[in-house]
Amino acid sequence: MTQPVNVTVTGAAGQIGYALLFRIASGQMLGPDTPVKLRLLEIPQGVKAAEGTAMELDDCAFPLLAGIDIFDDPTAGFSGANVALLVGARPRGAGMERGDLLEANGGIFGPQGAAINAGAADDVRVLVVGNPANTNALIASAHAPDVPADRFTAMTRLDHNRALSQLAQKTQTPVSDIANLTIWGNHSATQYPDIFHATLAGKPAAEVVNDQDWLENTFIPTVAKRGAAIIDARGASSAASAANAAVDHVHDWVAGTPDTSWTSAAIPSDGSYGVPEGIISSFPVRSTGGAWEIVQGLDINDFSRGKIDASVNELVEERDAVKGLGLI
Ligand code: NDP
Repeated sequence: MTQPVNVTVTGAAGQIGYALLFRIASGQMLGPDTPVKLRLLEIPQGVKAAEGTAMELDDCAFPLLAGIDIFDDPTAGFSGANVALLVGARPRGAGMERGDLLEANGGIFGPQGAAINAGAADDVRVLVVGNPANTNALIASAHAPDVPADRFTAMTRLDHNRALSQLAQKTQTPVSDIANLTIWGNHSATQYPDIFHATLAGKPAAEVVNDQDWLENTFIPTVAKRGAAIIDARGASSAASAANAAVDHVHDWVAGTPDTSWTSAAIPSDGSYGVPEGIISSFPVRSTGGAWEIVQGLDINDFSRGKIDASVNELVEERDAVKGLGLI
């Protein structure tokens, strides 16, 4: 039998954790032939609720679930981890400035990076979901000098999926016929969903849409502000769709992306497309051989350039802020 893959999930007792763990245990993330051992990491106050989730996981009798352990200590929680999903984060509280938020998250993601460095498996792959995800991933990576930087990624797949769905609805095209959409930059309101290389059943999406006003004033803000719209409608933040995107991200990272399209993920920049090296920014990516690669050679028009630069500048500011706070 295949050796189980150790999957550590932080914030396991939270909303996203609750939507995520059952998908992982059922085999949707790593495939129907790969057993998994779940390692749930929580803060001490979250451990009891995590125990309840573990009881429900037991009650599903998932054939692929080879074990569940619960931790409140990062070093123990990440020991042997092959996949680490960093979901738990400190939400922005009332009156909290950006510096306070970055500092509070530095206190979480710095020690978690160090714990990954100390004890995760050699092939560990890290996906940060907890916000501010890109910069939290940068902090974790900075504390894991022995882990290759390209193993630290942040999630923009939900933004990508939201953009796919909006474009599908606008053009009455099945999602499966859309290829080569891109989310650039930060997982924040400045992110840039780019349709200029996308195709709809092989036709250039921008030509089919042919509506700059919709692009600028409906599509981009709808995708970027979708999280707030869901809170408004549901009375709680998106959780199942965020979990679904995390499953998609890790699935494609491990299994590879199809030849017919690329996807979006925030990965450390190698300087491509003028994005400063080392920043964890969203790019058009393909996964081959278990590693993400940035899709090269795309022409970037002036409209896209301005949008990409604005989001990347925000990431540079976040990086400089955490550097100033001594967090990286
Ligand atoms: P959720 O499970 O709803 O969200 C967790 C994180 O994911 C938040 O930072 C949230 O950011 C982020 N996120 C990213 N994308 C999305 C999206 N599209 N929609 C919604 N959220 C998104 O939070 P809960 O409060 O329900 O649970 C958090 C859990 O984490 C708690 O159980 C807490 O105890 C735990 N925790 C664990 C830590 C640890 O393991 N060391 C550290 C800190 C917390 P945003 O806030 O911006 O919505």
